[in-house]
Formats: sequence, C-alpha cells, structure tokens
Amino acid sequence: MARRESRTVVALSFEYGQRHAHELACAARLAEDAGAEHVVLGLSPRLFRGSALVDPGPLPAPTPGTIPATYVPARNTLLLAHALALAEARGARDVWIGVNAVDYGGYPDCRPEFVEAFARLIAVGTRAGVEGAPVRLRTPLLRMSKGEIVRRGVALGVDFARTSTCYDPRAGDGAACGACDACHQRATGFAAAGVVDPRPRVGSAP
Ligand code: ZN
Repeated sequence: MARRESRTVVALSFEYGQRHAHELACAARLAEDAGAEHVVLGLSPRLFRGSALVDPGPLPAPTPGTIPATYVPARNTLLLAHALALAEARGARDVWIGVNAVDYGGYPDCRPEFVEAFARLIAVGTRAGVEGAPVRLRTPLLRMSKGEIVRRGVALGVDFARTSTCYDPRAGDGAACGACDACHQRATGFAAAGVVDPRPRVGSAP
C-alpha cells in the first residue's frame, strides 16, 4: 500500500531474538519484490526476556481475556521510535505500520489508543513536528478484518507464499507450525477471504 503511494519506500525490519526470525528472510524477499530498500536493525533480546516470543521452550496456549504470553514488552513503541528517527533523518513523510485491532489479540500496542498517542508524541517530540509538518503515522490495516487484509493483499499482488505469520516456524525452511495463535488467525483470514493459503505448513504436502 505504501508502494502505491510513494516512489521511495524503505522497509524496516528488526532482529530482537524472536523465535520467528524466519520472518526476516521473508521480509527481505518481499522488499526486493517491491523495489524497496530493506534496512534491518538489531535490538537486544535482553530487553524482552520473559516474552514467549523470545524465550526458548514451548509456546504457552493463549488464555482468553488476558494479554498473551507472546506479548513483547513495549515492542511497537520501540519499533516506531526507530522508524520515526529513520523517517525524520531521511525526510520521509510517512511511517507505516501494519497493526491490526479488529481481530484484537490482546496486544495493547495494536489499538487505536496507542496509535493516537504515538501520533501525539511525533507532533511534540520531533523537529518536523514542532515545525508544523510531523511525520504521519499510517495504519491502514488497523480496523480491517483478517479476511479484508488477505483480500487487499491479493488485489495488490502480494505473494503470500513469501510471507510468514507463524510464531514458531520450523527451523530451516520456516514452515508454519499450523498450531499457534498466529497460525489460527492467519487461517481464519484466508478462510474468510475464500483464498487458499500458499504458505507451506509442517505436515502439508510441499
Ligand atoms: Zn504457527
């Protein structure tokens, strides 16, 4: 969606000891497909000890009504702070982030309240903001359902075989586990969109 609007897109990824680091290889390929520069920044995994997405061991099942064990402390605040610095340094007009609140997974930093608060921070905490032209925070997926997101991706020509959603992909080829909460939500989205997911799963035919 950013590519449709802008001649220059920088795709930003983070390596923070996530167990689903396979997403970084996917991001590199997708950025190349889109003709975008791909920047990968590292954050110390020591920041996130205690998150099931960083700590080793089996993934705990989510408990309805609670913030999941896969919550990563202040992750989107940190990611957006880095993206904001890069955007301001390069004179970019927009920072885009794919947070989604409709199929709300219990993550506080995926909600409209968080997005609105961060936009206020941009306005008061950056030179561009104080000078009256703050970097705009763009969240086009915020209120879309997972099914709508899949349909939009298909319309835009996204190669979903090159995307990764699983929290616990298999080492090596990155096949999705098919059992974690992220895999369930992805399956729900593809089913709602009436689209066959081309991404390989553990146990599925190649
Ligand atoms: Zn999974």
